[in-house]
Amino acid sequence: MLNIGCHLSLSDGYEAMGKDALSIGANTFQFFTRNPRGGNAKAIDEKDAERLSALLKEHQFAPLLAHAPYTLNLCSSNPETRLFAKNMMADDLKRMEKLPCTLYNFHPGSHTGQGAETGIEQIAEALNEIMKPEQTTIVLLETMAGKGSEVGKSFYELRSIIDRIELSDKMGVCLDTCHISDAGYDIINNLDGVLTEFDNVIGLDRLKAIHLNDSLNTPGSHKDRHAKIGEGNLGLECIVRVINHPALKGLPFFLETPNELDGYAKEIALLRGAFTC
Ligand code: FE
Ligand code: FE
Ligand code: ZN
Repeated sequence: MLNIGCHLSLSDGYEAMGKDALSIGANTFQFFTRNPRGGNAKAIDEKDAERLSALLKEHQFAPLLAHAPYTLNLCSSNPETRLFAKNMMADDLKRMEKLPCTLYNFHPGSHTGQGAETGIEQIAEALNEIMKPEQTTIVLLETMAGKGSEVGKSFYELRSIIDRIELSDKMGVCLDTCHISDAGYDIINNLDGVLTEFDNVIGLDRLKAIHLNDSLNTPGSHKDRHAKIGEGNLGLECIVRVINHPALKGLPFFLETPNELDGYAKEIALLRGAFTC
């Protein structure tokens, strides 16, 4: 069974996302923990979270994925921005304990001119302050396209962050197909080689989720613009190889393609039909 879903909006609550997922043939989904541009989060309605939990069990969902606001930047050159990000993530991790979701993904950050090495140090330092031994959440670093001063454009950078984390058993990676192609990893012609490199540098046991996106730009462009499945430079054949790759078997796949629900339903049906393993 292919574990697949898409990004959904939290605006109508937690159970509503579960129902939306069911309505489009998904058995998982991703959501922003709060407004994607940051700011205050609404208090969690625990009854709503319990209803979602029951729905997930009844329909045997795969693990869900929470996504931090994309403005969260733990390695900005501005100390106030770093502090703001740290407080927001600490609050998110507290809230996560009330949700039937154990995976929390975030963009490592943009070093804004300080250099990747400094960025990596600052990200790790912040995570070591924020993460707690009692948390049940696994924190995922997302592979990035390398737009601007983004940290996490190579498997080595992600590995360098993980190496500095005290509670590293609570760290994982979310691989974004658009981002790694834009970063220069050739998954169109050499998916095997790229996954072997991931295994050698980070370890496939760290890989907990896949963002499944086509890319509007060519490999190595460092752009990060998602395309619908089969309508970008990766193409349907490449995406189908990804969902069927034995190294990725059982992982949850999340579409972040430019779609409304009906478009997502079509992509999910297309990919379920192309799933062979
Ligand atoms: Fe992301
Ligand atoms: Fe992504
Ligand atoms: Zn992206």
